[in-house]
Amino acid sequence: MSQDNLIKFECSQCKRVGHYSKKNKKIIKTRLELKKYCKFCKKHTLHKETK
Ligand SMILES: [Zn+2]
Repeated sequence: MSQDNLIKFECSQCKRVGHYSKKNKKIIKTRLELKKYCKFCKKHTLHKETK
């Protein structure tokens, strides 16, 4: 199993990783930012792609 395309989304408020996603890093080089529900903050926050 290759995890090359596995990316994590870190909550910008509590800095915990609550979401995982996949993208093709060879095609998409920009860092993704998404509004997602954080189960730690219990609200929607901005999630940033992290390593
Ligand atoms: Zn959070």
